[in-house]
Amino acid sequence: MEQSRKIFIGGNWKSNGDLQFVKDHVAFLNSIAFDNEKCEVSVSPVFIHLPAVISSLDSRYIVSAQNVSLFDNGAYTGEISAKQLKDLGINWTLIGHSERRQYFGENEEVVGRKVKIALENGLNVIACIGEKLSDREAGHTVEVVSTQMKTLVSSIVDWSRVVIAYEPVWAIGTGVTATPQQAQEIHNEIRKILASSVSEDVANKVRIIYGGSVTEKNAEELIRQPDIDGFLVGGASLKSGFKTIIESYKFKNN
Ligand code: PGA
Repeated sequence: MEQSRKIFIGGNWKSNGDLQFVKDHVAFLNSIAFDNEKCEVSVSPVFIHLPAVISSLDSRYIVSAQNVSLFDNGAYTGEISAKQLKDLGINWTLIGHSERRQYFGENEEVVGRKVKIALENGLNVIACIGEKLSDREAGHTVEVVSTQMKTLVSSIVDWSRVVIAYEPVWAIGTGVTATPQQAQEIHNEIRKILASSVSEDVANKVRIIYGGSVTEKNAEELIRQPDIDGFLVGGASLKSGFKTIIESYKFKNN
């Protein structure tokens, strides 16, 4: 398959950090040299740190939210809408992260509606999918990923504003990374699903990034896989090894 997809590397800070961390980490990120023509890099801080990050992070980076409200502006206490994110200058959000699914009851219906409202309001989306350990052990990985892809396919019209993050739940924050072969196999399945249910063109163009215990040690081998177009990085995106992970785009033979 065609290999002209621009690498996308995202840092998901989850519910970590304070204002001092933001200050120090932004200074570190600003010092990293990378070729923006070849690689897009995003960071997703918690909502309340977004203004501080936007005002101090180098414009080569994308600043993304971690979540978006299911609803428009209105009487939804504690929620932050897609419109409010756009108003702040945010153009990207994660949706459907496994921690949202596990701890906040986000099911396929919710994920689909969030993807729709985000796109309708002009946000770009990093849509997260992936199977649990029990799914994999039961041999249901492809089935689970196919169901999650069905939700995305029925919620998305403009695929140019979507990145798919394949994150096997058993690999998130566990130190157990999918092998490059395991990740490649599912990325290829996802591309086949896109080809058959959307179009060959979309299948060739959509970035499919891998997440789950990516570190500076395994990034190179993973990114060399033909269908891995980058990473979504949790724990390691908070540390100095994120520099090496960003630099792994150089190993992609595009
Ligand atoms: P991890 O998290 O890199 O800490 O495994 C990845 C993610 O949750 O996006």
